[in-house]
Amino acid sequence: MNPLDDLKPRYDAVVIGSGLGGMTAANNLAKFGWKVLLCEHHYQLGGLATYFKRKGGHAFDISLHGFPHGMIKSTRRYWTKDISDRIHQLKDVRFINPDFDVRTTFDRADFTRILIEQFKVPAETVEGFFAHLRAMNYYDDDKRTTRQLFDEFFPGRPDIQRLLLEPIAYANGSTLDDPAITFGIVFSNFMSKGVFIFQGGTDLLIQLMTAELKANGVDVRRNVLVEKVMTERDAAGRRRVVGAKLRDTRFGKEADVACATVISNANVKDTALRIVGEEAFDPAFLTAAKAVRVNSSSCQVYMGVREGESIPAIGDLVFTSEAKPFSSTELTDFHTTSRTYSVYYPDTRPQTKVPHYAVVTSINQLWDSWANLNEADYAHHKARIIEESFVGLEKFIPDIRSKVDWAEAATPRTVNRYVRHTGGTSFGTKFEGLKISMDLPTHVGGLYHAGSVGIIMSGWLGTINYGVIVSAKADTYLRDPQAG
Ligand SMILES: Cc1cc2nc3c(=O)[nH]c(=O)nc-3n(C[C@H](O)[C@H](O)[C@H](O)COP(=O)(O)OP(=O)(O)OC[C@H]3O[C@@H](n4cnc5c(N)ncnc54)[C@H](O)[C@@H]3O)c2cc1C
Repeated sequence: MNPLDDLKPRYDAVVIGSGLGGMTAANNLAKFGWKVLLCEHHYQLGGLATYFKRKGGHAFDISLHGFPHGMIKSTRRYWTKDISDRIHQLKDVRFINPDFDVRTTFDRADFTRILIEQFKVPAETVEGFFAHLRAMNYYDDDKRTTRQLFDEFFPGRPDIQRLLLEPIAYANGSTLDDPAITFGIVFSNFMSKGVFIFQGGTDLLIQLMTAELKANGVDVRRNVLVEKVMTERDAAGRRRVVGAKLRDTRFGKEADVACATVISNANVKDTALRIVGEEAFDPAFLTAAKAVRVNSSSCQVYMGVREGESIPAIGDLVFTSEAKPFSSTELTDFHTTSRTYSVYYPDTRPQTKVPHYAVVTSINQLWDSWANLNEADYAHHKARIIEESFVGLEKFIPDIRSKVDWAEAATPRTVNRYVRHTGGTSFGTKFEGLKISMDLPTHVGGLYHAGSVGIIMSGWLGTINYGVIVSAKADTYLRDPQAG
């Protein structure tokens, strides 16, 4: 069947993209009773919350490394109890670098202990720091950077900067020079109770979410690219969403559907500048949208341990680096020595009959380092990062090479290919992108964006919560499009 067959001529809402933000928004709108069409250009749903399988029984998760405890509440409230009940804690987080060797449950109590005992920080400073973070809020419009925040509480302590920021840089791409709130909100979320993952793997999560979307009546279409959001001026001169142009990515068939709202889960710059188009916005907004910086990207190395083999428990998340001192620039350097190993033990997928182990190395990278490599250099550097990941892992598991029977690498180009994000961004845009995302409906009635943006609205929890917020706004518009 062609993915454009049997479309309704009109939907209340078209959702562009099936990342966690898009799926959550679609699911919520359907539960409110609206007719929703969810279009995903790829053959698989989930966006960056995805997985792939390889021969030898290997299943690799792309972004299932860890999220805050808040996911339990958000998935229970906006998805299902079954999904929520499968979220479980990772208790063994390690940091190994020239400054320190720390093993932690990555929560406030344990970090307080480590900062006081190992880093010799006075207890009242640690308490003051946590209290300050907890009180941070987007609307305070605090202009301080994370570097300034650290200098206030821990002056002259690059080792503490590293302990605090390195894991968050992996979780949302933030740097010392981003607004302090981009560190504060996400770090506080983790510190509330630690790091969690979905037990069963991303494949099971997406399967359960897809079933729920369909049960709630969402019309889900894969291999369908939304090429254009159509807008028109109404009698009062206000520009509004009127429909979407769709293209089947396999056979090229095209179709138009009418709709009153669009929620785009695509990158916010792509949404405004390409999918909606410059003609829909005033010059000031366009200038601001074009100036938005996208966030950093990632490389990953996936290693599958041969069926029947096991590896020792070296930790769940192992942050390693040889860089001294810590710097945000080194973290994304083409030849960075900083990499995080996510180790997947058999209890990640307890439902699989034969236990499997896998290790995924994550490396923060910049699009520009990879975008223009010729094919030979591209292959060479992919092989290089695989080799460097093995060398790093051998420090913990000396015979790892003999146990791995599948290894491959992904780069910023892989991210761009599968989810189409400008610059292969892993975490949407820098902070200024959030305002552009939130302002879209003031320029075009019925146009919304729900996806990684502004650093704080990224990651699994950030995008699910943003999908909830935006679907509530779209619901209000659908009820009364003429309201202010
Ligand atoms: C390597 C890596 C590791 C990560 N690790 C973690 C982690 O451990 N914990 C965590 O919380 N977060 C992690 N993240 C971030 C997290 O995965 C993302 O923030 C989140 O999944 C993004 O969700 P989203 O809703 O923004 O949509 P995305 O996942 O970005 O999906 C957008 C979707 O829109 C589709 N699309 C785009 N344009 C169109 C179009 N025109 N028509 C149709 N479809 C379109 C894309 O194909 C895609 O499916 C990681 C990200 C990466 C890359």
